[in-house]
Amino acid sequence: MSTSLQKVIILAAPSGAGKTTITQYLLKRFPRLAFSISATTRAPRGAEQDGVEYHFLSLAKFEGLIHENAFLEYEQVYEGVYYGTLKSELARIWALGKVPVLDIDVKGAIQVQQQLGDKSLSVFIMPPSVETLKERLLNRQTETEESIKTRIDKAEYEISFSNQFNVIVKNEILETACAAAADVLIDFLGPDFTK
Ligand code: 5GP
Repeated sequence: MSTSLQKVIILAAPSGAGKTTITQYLLKRFPRLAFSISATTRAPRGAEQDGVEYHFLSLAKFEGLIHENAFLEYEQVYEGVYYGTLKSELARIWALGKVPVLDIDVKGAIQVQQQLGDKSLSVFIMPPSVETLKERLLNRQTETEESIKTRIDKAEYEISFSNQFNVIVKNEILETACAAAADVLIDFLGPDFTK
């Protein structure tokens, strides 16, 4: 039986730190990883599809699931907007013999870690500096000055939790950060996992 059974990988980072790119890299490199599809009450953006990026739920449905104790963790990541990891989603991925990758916020990450202990590996993707983070957000050109300020304040707050993670991967050079993240995963899941 695989040693990676019922383990989870948690990736968290401030917005703009490169988490999505690193997550995509890991999913492509290791076919035995599977993206854990969270539930959220936010509306789909652009080409997002229900059941692919997220399970898009109404507030009533989400609250119903909270009462049913269906979530491993959930948070109001933004005011009035819920995000949560469904226990059934992890069970689905484990049943496939795969390891779920949770791309979730810092507080959710710490909650999962507290519940799953050494069955989880929490990785914090650290931006090189707040200045670089600001530049990256400016380069996206989708943000207003105001929203950049909000994100920077949030990033500083999130970075203050980074010492509670199992591993910190600094994303100065993307390729180096991807390779470092891959190495810590192999360390945690064992060499069989790469086969
Ligand atoms: P977005 O709306 O941009 O897709 O995600 C906003 C934030 O919510 C990101 O930091 C993302 O990692 C986080 N998030 C996504 N799913 C979950 C979840 O299931 N639980 C928690 N706690 N955060 C989540």
